[in-house]
Amino acid sequence: MPVKVAVNGYGTIGKRIASAVLKSSDFELVGVAKYSPDYKALIAAKQGIRIFVPREKVEAFRSLGIEPEGYVDYLLEEAELIYDASPGGQGVKNKELYVKLRKPAVFQGGEEPTVAEISYSTLCNYTSVIGKKYIRIVSCNTTGILRVLCSLGVQNIKRVFATIIRRASDPGEDARGPVNSMKIDSTEIPSHHSVDVRTVIGNFDIETVAIAVPSTLMHMHVLEVILKGSDSCVDVEKLREQSRGRILVVHSHLADTTGKLIEIARDIGRPRNDFYENILFSNMFKCQGDRLILLQAIHQEAIVIPENIDVAYGIMNLETDVYRVLDKVNGLFGIGELRLL
Ligand code: NAD
Repeated sequence: MPVKVAVNGYGTIGKRIASAVLKSSDFELVGVAKYSPDYKALIAAKQGIRIFVPREKVEAFRSLGIEPEGYVDYLLEEAELIYDASPGGQGVKNKELYVKLRKPAVFQGGEEPTVAEISYSTLCNYTSVIGKKYIRIVSCNTTGILRVLCSLGVQNIKRVFATIIRRASDPGEDARGPVNSMKIDSTEIPSHHSVDVRTVIGNFDIETVAIAVPSTLMHMHVLEVILKGSDSCVDVEKLREQSRGRILVVHSHLADTTGKLIEIARDIGRPRNDFYENILFSNMFKCQGDRLILLQAIHQEAIVIPENIDVAYGIMNLETDVYRVLDKVNGLFGIGELRLL
C-alpha cells in the first residue's frame, strides 16, 4: 500500500514535491494545503489535485471557481506523512499540529535546525533518519555543497572555502531583489551556509561567503577544497560516479550561462525546466596535489526535491539501503540519464 502523503504549502517547493509524489507508486498524494487563491491553486485544481484550505479562505477559493475538498486539518489527519513546504519560519508553528496528530513531518531549509531531530542530505546521512519523526532538508545552497563534500567523503577533506553567488529571487517572486546591484548576503564571514553544512556533517572546517545577484536562474558556487594527503586528487568523472548521478558534468563550451542550462532543461522536456542535479563544469574543475577548485550551478527551485523523496523511504521505514533509494528516486526524475560532455 502506498504511503499517504500531504503537502502543506504549495509554492515553489511544495508544488514540486507534490508532482514527484504523484509520479511515485510508493507514495500517494492525498492532497495539498493551499493558503492563497491564485493561479497555482487553479492549475492544481485543473490537474485533479485535492485542495484543502484554511476555514476562513473557503469563499475566496470558491470565487475563483475552486471547490475545496476540506480544511487543512482534515488533510493532515488523512495523511501518514506530512511535507511542510510553508514559508521559512512558519514550519515550526505548523509543527504543533503535526505533534498533536502524531504524524511524521519533513521540513525545509528555511526553518531553524531545531525544528527537527536531524538536518538531512541523502549522500551524507540517509541511514540516520531511520526511526526519526521530524527531519529538516537543508537549503538549496547547502544541499549543493553537501552533495560534493559527501561524494568526496568528508573524511578525505581538510578544509573548504565556498563562494556562493546566489539568485536574487525565484521567477515568480517579483517583489524581491536586488534588481540592479550585487548584494553582500551576510553580515560576517562565514555566511549561514557553513553553519548549515555543519548541521549535517558535524564539526567541519568550512568558510562560506555569499553574494546575491539580479537573476532568477540558479545559483553558482566556486569551491576550494583542501584534501587530506599531498596527492589525493580525484577526477570529475569519479566524483560524478560517487554522487550516484546527483552531479551532472557539463563542458562550458556547451553551456556557459545559467540561462543556457535552463534552456537545455526546457529542450530535454524536464518538468518546469528543472535541474535536480548539481551542474559541475568539467573544464572548471582543477585538482593539483591536495587542492581542488570547482565551479557548479545549482537550480534552487529543484535541487532539494530528490532529497525530499529519498528521506521518505527512511522516515517511513521502507528501505534501509541508501543506494537502492538513490536508484529508485533517480529513476523517478530521470537523474543519471543525461550526458552533456
Ligand atoms: P513559497 O513562498 O514559494 O511557498 C510557500 C507556500 O506556503 C505559499 O504558497 C504560501 O501561500 C504557503 N503558506 C502560507 N501560510 C502557510 C502555512 N501557515 N502553512 C503552510 N503553508 C503556508 O516558498 P518556497 O520557496 O516554496 O519555500 C518553502 C520552504 O522551502 C522554505 O523553508 C524555503 O526556505 C525552502 N526552500 C526554498 C527554496 C527556493 O529556492 N525557493 C529552495 C530550497 C528550500
